Amino acid sequence: MTRHALVALIISALVVAAPLAQKNAPAKPGGNAKLDALKQEAVADVESRTQFAQQMVDQIFSYGELGFQEFETNRYLIDILKKNGFAVQEGIAGIPTAFMATWGSGKPVIALGSDIDCIPQASQKPAVAWHEPMIEGAPGHGEGHNSGQAVNITAALAVKKIMEREKLPGTIRIWTGTAEELVGTKAYFVRAGFFKDVDIALFTHVGENLDVSWGERAGNGLVSVQYSFVGETAHAAANPWRGRSALDAVELMDIGWNFRREHLRLSQRSHNVITDGGDQPNVVPRTASVWYYFRETDYPHIKELWETGDTMAKAASMMAGVDLLPTKVLGSAWPQHFNKAVAETTWANIQKVGLPQWSDEDQQLATALQKELKNPRAEGLRTKLSDGLQGPVRENTGGGSDDIGDISWNVPTVTLRYPSNIPGLPGHNWANAISMATPIAHKGVIAGAKVQAMTLLDLVSRPELVEQAWKYFKDVQTKETKYEALIRPQDTPAIWLNKATMDKYRPEMKKYYYDPSRFKNYLEQLNIKYPTVRTTAP
Ligand SMILES: [Zn+2]
Repeated sequence: MTRHALVALIISALVVAAPLAQKNAPAKPGGNAKLDALKQEAVADVESRTQFAQQMVDQIFSYGELGFQEFETNRYLIDILKKNGFAVQEGIAGIPTAFMATWGSGKPVIALGSDIDCIPQASQKPAVAWHEPMIEGAPGHGEGHNSGQAVNITAALAVKKIMEREKLPGTIRIWTGTAEELVGTKAYFVRAGFFKDVDIALFTHVGENLDVSWGERAGNGLVSVQYSFVGETAHAAANPWRGRSALDAVELMDIGWNFRREHLRLSQRSHNVITDGGDQPNVVPRTASVWYYFRETDYPHIKELWETGDTMAKAASMMAGVDLLPTKVLGSAWPQHFNKAVAETTWANIQKVGLPQWSDEDQQLATALQKELKNPRAEGLRTKLSDGLQGPVRENTGGGSDDIGDISWNVPTVTLRYPSNIPGLPGHNWANAISMATPIAHKGVIAGAKVQAMTLLDLVSRPELVEQAWKYFKDVQTKETKYEALIRPQDTPAIWLNKATMDKYRPEMKKYYYDPSRFKNYLEQLNIKYPTVRTTAP
């Protein structure tokens, strides 16, 4: 199909879908002919930026940077935004790889955010339907955070063009969810006041369908804490009685925690890694550290888990006869709560845009990977939107976290999910990277950008919508629950994390950075056939 035919098809689909969408719109349905026309224009404009979005997705995929070390990604995005007329504050809130970009003036102020960091040991060749790292042991985009900025920036540029011509007042901000895998930054953005004057936050995150929700979201908030102990070295064979082992304290704390686990609420999640377990066996370990994530469904329960952890660390240090150093908070996230009015508006736009048209090749890659992972059903990519707008979770049994939660308790916020990934994957895994530099990711991003552009136009054209959003925020969401940061006054962003890992792998990874001046897309550069699936059983 030619691009013109495609645009015509989209516009005719919009016309057909319009009455249905208006029925679901929260505000008065009539008198929006002008706005509808602007939205159609924005959709066509996003479509015309397909190559721009694809290059961004592929470029950031190739950088594969871990949290707090997103230097290439940051530079790349800042350059694009500056080139397109945004003023950029760099290194915000004491975080070198974070920025806040601004264009426009006056109200409303709409802040578009998305994460940029990747996952340890998730290096993976895109479009290959089995585990095949680009570089063994290296990080990779095994969550799909390489795609969200493309959704927001593509949408923002389409809407900016319209706002300039129509002289619509309003400010667009674009910001980075830096180190999201460490839930390491968003509480600091809030603390530094970056969301004080923001009217609405539109967040976006990769998913397997095009959707949005309001109210309490399934999952947990968390606090991420490092416990470090100090003892005394000694010859572990000649004079072990002269030593005091910091590692003993770490192990005693972990044993204590695992006994206590039986008596914790079903909704909690807690896990740890030992980041310092001593030097070598014949030297009694003088230092040792253990890093815990304590997850629960609300602030009081997170605090309670954290206090239990602190008690165990203290008790373990007493048992081992070592000192417990002051604890370090490495990250935190409030549970997520999304805004009803903004979600309803976004959902109406989702219904107008619909899911991408998947090709046979897209579906082949998806089903091949689902079979590779031995999923009970290999159903391929989603071809239907969910039945309706998702409301608050009925019974929150816990799960993952995202520090967008902190922003959602300070400003009316929603997270738009767009279908750039394959259903039924483990998450935080090489498998989740496979689609992320392929037509699946590219099409999902364009669908997401269309929705984001339409919602942006709604927000700058209908002041009553911003009012409704704040009414829900004040009268419902925060009526009884008040935000209190989990980070303490003495805590600062853990910007040293992941440096050693990136220093180790970056020289090798640089050889595979995407070069859009030479290759149409990253698969072409890597010389990978789309899709690459097994022809015989593994
Ligand atoms: Zn994520």
